[in-house]
Amino acid sequence: MTRLSKKICLLGDFAVGKTSLVRRFVHNKFDDKYLSTIGVKVSRKTVTIPRAGELVELSMLLWDLAGSEEFDRVKSSYLRGAAGAVLVCDLTRPETLGNLSQYANGYFKNNPQAQLILAANKSDLIDQQELTESEVEAAAQKMNIPYYLTSAKTGDEVEQLFKHIGQLLLA
Ligand code: GDP
Ligand code: MG
Repeated sequence: MTRLSKKICLLGDFAVGKTSLVRRFVHNKFDDKYLSTIGVKVSRKTVTIPRAGELVELSMLLWDLAGSEEFDRVKSSYLRGAAGAVLVCDLTRPETLGNLSQYANGYFKNNPQAQLILAANKSDLIDQQELTESEVEAAAQKMNIPYYLTSAKTGDEVEQLFKHIGQLLLA
């Protein structure tokens, strides 16, 4: 079996759910408290993905960072060597979707070959949705990347999101 290891960065504004998505995917847990991330936290999860008739064991190194102010300061070291990134926005805060193009641009400068995917998170907060799926879809199409409507709280679409970027990294 082929074994590979890839670095994947979580990108997006404060409190969109980056830390919660990683926590759901890696530990299958959710916490209502704000999970403060001090500096950079790297979590690992290994997934098995079929590729060209064989199984590849992919070790996903998920890099998660605190607020966006800090992002400016550590940007290039955080992004260096990343094979992919998950862009995260919050369906209850439309500006968090608009801000993603900045993250994507900064990211591509450092990693022109890398893969991106969009997670529009907090899909469980039905009454508070300020973004429609078609707005999310339009933004994803503009960046030419796949998107998922996720909930770190219920786990909806979280596994699919991370497996999809895993597949893109092996393609
Ligand atoms: P980060 O700053 O992007 O890492 O965001 P966090 O993961 O710390 O989440 C910020 C807040 O949003 C916390 O209070 C989380 O519990 C909450 N949160 C994160 N994801 C979801 C979700 O999918 N649904 C709901 N209802 N709350 C979420
Ligand atoms: Mg965080």
